[in-house]
Amino acid sequence: MATLIGRYAPHQADSPVLEVSDVTVRYNGTLALDGVSFRLTQGEQVAVVGPNGAGKSTLFKVIAGMLHPTHGEVKVYGHGPGGHICIAYVPQRSQVDWSFPVNVADVVMMGRIGKLGLLRWPKARDWDYVRQCLEVVGMADLADRQIGELSGGQQQRVFIARALAQEAELMLMDEPLTGLDVTSQEDIFRILEELRRRHVTVMVATHDLNQAADRFDQVMLLNHRLLGLGRPGEVFTPERLLQAYGGHMRLIQTDEGLMVLNDTCCEGSTTRHGRLA
Ligand code: ADP
Repeated sequence: MATLIGRYAPHQADSPVLEVSDVTVRYNGTLALDGVSFRLTQGEQVAVVGPNGAGKSTLFKVIAGMLHPTHGEVKVYGHGPGGHICIAYVPQRSQVDWSFPVNVADVVMMGRIGKLGLLRWPKARDWDYVRQCLEVVGMADLADRQIGELSGGQQQRVFIARALAQEAELMLMDEPLTGLDVTSQEDIFRILEELRRRHVTVMVATHDLNQAADRFDQVMLLNHRLLGLGRPGEVFTPERLLQAYGGHMRLIQTDEGLMVLNDTCCEGSTTRHGRLA
């Protein structure tokens, strides 16, 4: 679920939404991130792509302030990530206990806690706000449904509604498209369009290179080190893709552009064919 990070950090007007400087993370000797630096400005939407174990989740956890880097620093609007209510981390669905007995509206209301303060009971206007967030994600009709009874796509939309209720300005979505059917994926893309209109800055982790190239203006290629950030055509070059995926990928140059045959990069993967740039 979207995780509430904190409350009080002020925003420095002339600072970028996000500035990551030379971030390295080691878990007991395992190098997850190695000297990662980049910055994002308000309203950018970036697909973060890399093979399993590349450090995508670790990067999001560091940005959200849930994990301290071994080296380097993260600044959100000019301040460390620990004190910000404006960051929402939307975890992978598999990391959530869906048997927890709460309904959809309650989950979304949890996103309001930072605005409410822990000891204040939600008022009618807070429930109105929750309903508006559910309308944005097309889930208002299911407000009373137990979360365990939702489909994967609906669960993902509830997470995003919760981040909206939090009034997050920076959303970190960990594999929100994985395991969803095409219709549910399109629902998520429609919501991403709405977030773009609201100038919310979004990072979306995915292992689907072709979808990232087709559907995002900006992509980040990560494999412990940052291998590129920019337009798909600039970032997804054969050299960088081979650096990221090694022998797990075949690239074929055609008249229409670069084709990717991606057999073994991802758990349970099927062969994917697609054109990048
Ligand atoms: P991704 O999200 O791209 O799959 P992760 O950030 O989950 O990558 O993992 C990056 C690396 O760090 C992997 O080698 C993974 O095994 C390791 N790792 C992740 N979390 C932990 C942890 N809690 N303890 C030890 N190693 C971890």
